[in-house]
Amino acid sequence: SKVLVTGANGFVAIWIVRTLLVQGYSVRGTIRSPSKGTYLKEYFKAYGDKLELVVVPDIEAEGAFDEAVKGVSAIAHTASPYHYDAAEPAEIIDPAIRGTLSVLKSALNGSSVKRIVYTTSTATMVRPTKTPLIFDESNWNEYAINEVKGKGRQAPGYLKYFASKTLAEKAMFDFHEKHKHEVGWDVASIAPPYVFGPMIHDVKSLEQANTSVLEWYHTMMKHPKLPPSGASAQPANTPEGLVTLGNAWVDVRDLAKAQVRVIQREEASGRIIVSAAPFVWHDFLDVCRALQPPVYLLDEYVDLNPSYDPKKVVHLLNFDVSKAERVLGMGKTAKRGVDAYISIEKLTRDM
Ligand code: NDP
Repeated sequence: SKVLVTGANGFVAIWIVRTLLVQGYSVRGTIRSPSKGTYLKEYFKAYGDKLELVVVPDIEAEGAFDEAVKGVSAIAHTASPYHYDAAEPAEIIDPAIRGTLSVLKSALNGSSVKRIVYTTSTATMVRPTKTPLIFDESNWNEYAINEVKGKGRQAPGYLKYFASKTLAEKAMFDFHEKHKHEVGWDVASIAPPYVFGPMIHDVKSLEQANTSVLEWYHTMMKHPKLPPSGASAQPANTPEGLVTLGNAWVDVRDLAKAQVRVIQREEASGRIIVSAAPFVWHDFLDVCRALQPPVYLLDEYVDLNPSYDPKKVVHLLNFDVSKAERVLGMGKTAKRGVDAYISIEKLTRDM
């Protein structure tokens, strides 16, 4: 069967395309301009016409995906702006919401579609905290929505992004609720925290890496005396930032695998968090140094935090990943019917 992947040239999406092709699916990928297809066609040339590319120049346009949805059994919607530089909130919120609704509207008449899965983010669940919290699929980031509503342009860039994801995901569930009696498909959203791992998409220099990998690169490799990295939600390339700031991570290959399982498993509807573990940035430095051969990034940082003890660190943002274990068979440790998430060592080495 055939799966539609929107924004097929992105960091995450190309891994979804690859996972689907490896498992024998045909894939129709959307891109914004023909030039973005050249690399994809070359990269996947072994799969011949199992990969079809269609150009959707403006995902917000009326009927943008009408042609693209024809004959597909599932849709993985990933195309959405992911950056922290929006000035006007609408710059990032409009394409996120309207792009998502555009996919759903085109699928209203696409009778072959059984499931639509949206790549959301744990950013749609979190809120600022000074004490540790455990978030699950019932949480919504009303904080980001309210901050952006109240502060407009003045709200921090990362909150504009968080609001865009939260509002787009809500819009998806609302749309489905309204139309569920007239459609043969349901919706799911897969919520990763920071996604890291090897980049196989078209990236000509590290400074062009997607936002999460760029943030990793800046945090690990930019000298603490330099101004903090503009790529970061919370710049952590400082001695203190490294041991206090963090979030949670998942390997891009596990995210792609999860996304494909959502398409394959009927019970995998609604929201699902996929997250391997919490981290503070220093954990990645430790992994880099312990790898054989070691990856020496910024020894200055390490010396500035000689007493860092990963066993004593308090992680503020924690995620309940039991639903993913139950319905997707992905968990912290491998057991019957459950695959373990890719480790931080493998992720770091391969990235
Ligand atoms: P990339 O920037 O690598 O990919 C984004 C994709 O979306 C590209 O195909 C891009 O197309 C497309 N896109 C961006 N803006 C628009 C727009 N206005 N109209 C149409 N297409 C657009 O990002 P990632 O692969 O990292 O992210 C993919 C998805 O995963 C996003 O929805 C993101 O929110 C989500 N996500 C990512 C996380 C991460 O850590 N990477 C964490 C949580 C969620 P083009 O190349 O033409 O710009």
